[in-house]
Amino acid sequence: MDEQVVEKVAGRDVPGVWDAVVVGGGAAGLSGAVALARSLRSVVVVDAGEPRNAPAAGVHNYLSRDGVPPRELTALGRRELAGYGGTVVDGEAADARRLPGDGPARFEVVLHGGRVLRSRALLVATGAVDELPDVPGLRERWGRDVLHCPYCHGWEVRGQPIAVLATSPVSFHQTLMWRQLSDEVTVVLHGAEPSPEQWEQFAARGVAVVDGPAAGVRVQGGALTGVQLADGHVVPARALAVASRPLVRAGFLAGLGLRPVDVEVMGHVVGSALPAGPAGATDVPGLRVAGNAADLVAQVGSSAAAGVLAGAALNADLVADDAARAVAARRARDSSPAAVFAPRSEAAVAARVLGARAHGTSA
Ligand SMILES: Cc1cc2nc3c(=O)[nH]c(=O)nc-3n(C[C@H](O)[C@H](O)[C@H](O)COP(=O)(O)OP(=O)(O)OC[C@H]3O[C@@H](n4cnc5c(N)ncnc54)[C@H](O)[C@@H]3O)c2cc1C
Repeated sequence: MDEQVVEKVAGRDVPGVWDAVVVGGGAAGLSGAVALARSLRSVVVVDAGEPRNAPAAGVHNYLSRDGVPPRELTALGRRELAGYGGTVVDGEAADARRLPGDGPARFEVVLHGGRVLRSRALLVATGAVDELPDVPGLRERWGRDVLHCPYCHGWEVRGQPIAVLATSPVSFHQTLMWRQLSDEVTVVLHGAEPSPEQWEQFAARGVAVVDGPAAGVRVQGGALTGVQLADGHVVPARALAVASRPLVRAGFLAGLGLRPVDVEVMGHVVGSALPAGPAGATDVPGLRVAGNAADLVAQVGSSAAAGVLAGAALNADLVADDAARAVAARRARDSSPAAVFAPRSEAAVAARVLGARAHGTSA
């Protein structure tokens, strides 16, 4: 952390070139930032403060924090990061580019408002935003009683009447997942038709199927009571399961040539993500991706884990870069190759590296 100090953030001196800029301060980004900060890397997280699960009352399936409100979880993460010297900037990345030359700064991230952050490494953890079926009133209930994930919210509606909005073949798979949690499941056909095998499964499992399309939702006393069909009928329901389409928030990466790709399940596009390999590696050296931005089925726990992995991998990349730069600097100091291997300098290196074990190498 020996970069030149050029600006102040919240009264603190911050480096002109950060070891890492993390874009996105959800479970993935904050976890990656903590891994970097604990390795004594200077790290700044830029966060727009809209985690994907923000509409939900609480986070479930995240061990030891069951039911914690999503924004409380990120506030805890921010506090933990600050304890290790990490910085969070509230803002939104608008553009990112690669800097020419082989200086330490490889990336430049431009925020809305014009602020520029330069860094040696970049972690993208911007998550996804859910595209929802176009049914009036549905978006207003999203994350409360319009649901997508039985692991996140299923327990809370167990045993209650659940409707499933069938918009694609994926919805029929979803139906059987919700059936595990309730005996009263009704499929509303809204653009998709079950296969003969699925009709048989629904008959055998006691799943009702009604013709749609859905025209709205019924709400009473602040809670969902049913799904309004276009023909005027109402399907009673305390929860409506939908197949949302998570789309990665990655527009600001166009300048780096990193573009989202469609993710398909059963031949159907279910969302988009940034292509990434192990530990979030991308085609852009020094740039890694974690969480929903790379894996649209990742939950909070797996997003946090991916963030730690990507943060650790970026630290390892920086360790290798530090060593390469140190070797280059050392070689430049001893410009003649012969001088590097001169008995006197070799003995000095051996004495420093091996200490008392440097027997027989004294000049
Ligand atoms: C309604 C709902 C409920 C859910 N409930 C659960 C649950 O109970 N348990 C569970 O395990 N999972 C749940 N999930 C899934 C969970 O939301 C994700 O797994 C998790 O949020 C992914 O974490 P992330 O860090 O990748 O992204 P996010 O949590 O989405 O964080 C990304 C952050 O990056 C910021 N950002 C985006 N673009 C930019 C930019 N250009 N510049 C700066 N910042 C930016 C966003 O504002 C956000 O703060 C739920 C999802 C939904 C939709």
